[in-house]
Amino acid sequence: METQMKAVRLPGGQQVEVIDRPIPRPKPNEVLIKVRASAICASDLSLYAGNALVGGANAGTGTITPGHEAAGDVVDIGSAVTYVKPGDRVAVHLSVGCMHCEYCRAGYIQQCPAWQCVGFDVDGGDAEYIVVPEANCLPLPDALSYESGAVLVDNFGTQYHTQKRLGVSGADVTAIIGIGPMGSAAVATAKARGAQVIALDVVEHRLALAGRLGADHVINVADGNALEQIMDLTGGRGPEISIDCSGRPDGENLALDATAKLGKVAFVGECGSVTINPSEQMIRKELDVIGAWVFPISDYYEMVRFLLRHNVTPEQTVSHRYSLDNAPEAFDQVSRRLADKVMFTFN
Ligand SMILES: [Zn+2]
Ligand SMILES: [Zn+2]
Repeated sequence: METQMKAVRLPGGQQVEVIDRPIPRPKPNEVLIKVRASAICASDLSLYAGNALVGGANAGTGTITPGHEAAGDVVDIGSAVTYVKPGDRVAVHLSVGCMHCEYCRAGYIQQCPAWQCVGFDVDGGDAEYIVVPEANCLPLPDALSYESGAVLVDNFGTQYHTQKRLGVSGADVTAIIGIGPMGSAAVATAKARGAQVIALDVVEHRLALAGRLGADHVINVADGNALEQIMDLTGGRGPEISIDCSGRPDGENLALDATAKLGKVAFVGECGSVTINPSEQMIRKELDVIGAWVFPISDYYEMVRFLLRHNVTPEQTVSHRYSLDNAPEAFDQVSRRLADKVMFTFN
């Protein structure tokens, strides 16, 4: 049996290394997974630049394998593993927690005081093998590809939970601002929930993808009159729901300005500081504004049913596929916004 594997390292300064590492061995409660698909997330660009967006002391040191969106085959299990078995197809849940605190018990592992993120704090999926706790193995039905599994553990999972909280439905016009991988997942999810969708971005290939995913209207914000166009499309009322996936101050302000009175807004795209005018934009419009971040692991099974019932294939958002050897080009594509979702695939 082989003992070495390839793994990506991001030492910072937009450097990408592909190194040889020993294949890890599962501890008693862990499983070893042969990775079949591992996606690059916009948040990985923080590691690429050398200042980790999330994580503790290990994150951003360049000593952790990145990749928090992975799927593959279980090939070995630790001595205390009870349910997962070799041969299982699984997607990897990105949050590792204590599994005892009130947040872990409720499925919100990402809120655990001891939270660790796969690909930031512990080795992630941009490698030929990964070990994760048994509790992080999400069974992947045969009808969903490994690539779909990798995309649904972050982008589609986040959108499933966010839109459930917002109650997106066929009664609404929903505006999606920023059509990177999170926004394209938002478009596909909102269409499956029956909403009329307005998709907004400044990049043409992203707007084209939104159209292929069923967006009813696409608006290029670079034209300079996005608010006016949204109002024209909604009879001057504005969308009942807006979801900002851009993480940009102008995108977040557009969401607040455009949304109809008594409407709902979610901020999903991560950002720095932003100046808003709560009186004008929120208070007197009586908006519900939420922050939304990943999803509780307890949503996984219903999300999979939802995707299958509505024939949503998350891999539709993937535009570029690379081998690990070509990791430098893959990260370069993502950082220059030339690609939609970028995936490492394995033979
Ligand atoms: Zn991510
Ligand atoms: Zn916990």
